[in-house]
Amino acid sequence: MNLVFLGPPGSGKGTQAVRLAEKLSLVHLSTGDVLRDAVKRGTELGKKAEGFMSRGELVPDAVLIDLIENLLTTGKLNGGFILDGFPRTVPQATGLKQMLDNNAIRLDKAVLFDVGDQEIIKRLSGRWFCPKCNAGYNYPAKLPRVEGRCDNDDAELQRRPDDEEAVVKNRLEVYRKQTRPIEEFYRGESILTSIEGQRSPDEVFQSLLDEVGG
Ligand code: AMP
Repeated sequence: MNLVFLGPPGSGKGTQAVRLAEKLSLVHLSTGDVLRDAVKRGTELGKKAEGFMSRGELVPDAVLIDLIENLLTTGKLNGGFILDGFPRTVPQATGLKQMLDNNAIRLDKAVLFDVGDQEIIKRLSGRWFCPKCNAGYNYPAKLPRVEGRCDNDDAELQRRPDDEEAVVKNRLEVYRKQTRPIEEFYRGESILTSIEGQRSPDEVFQSLLDEVGG
């Protein structure tokens, strides 16, 4: 099964992607995670992406399309995938379609996680993560056992710099202007499905399983 997950930052698509990928043995590819790792390691890709990310802007389409094309042609997405955070613009969506067609791969569904702006701002201002194992936490919805420490490895929890309020507002604006239009693209392809994301992670996961037949 090949899926793309759409939704504003903080809509829970990353959390759900991790769970579904594990259950259905799919490759989970978060372009945000790949880019953050590249920034941390100071690679060419990281240098290209860093400024855009810190301002809450999108990294240029050509950079992302190259990245995905490379993964597709080297077979790293064979056997089924969830793309989490890609595509994010209409040119990325059409680029993806072209790349998939060239490799005779079919996209089964585009799953949209629907969450309102107020809830997003609340969630992102409480979001923390473990820099070591990437586990996510949320104050007050999902607290670690020991305050400020990861349950898995005791590392000190951190916040994402782009979760600061001013940057979040910009990311939401970017989402509305640049990413929302791809819902129409996938509606046109008859593969768009929308999930009410403003519920508990377990409830959302159950709806997701119902949608993808897992
Ligand atoms: P995320 O973790 O998905 O919220 O992504 C964090 C940041 O990485 C975004 O705000 C963008 O700057 C960048 N990014 C991730 N995926 C993409 C994409 N498909 N196109 C452009 N920029 C992206």
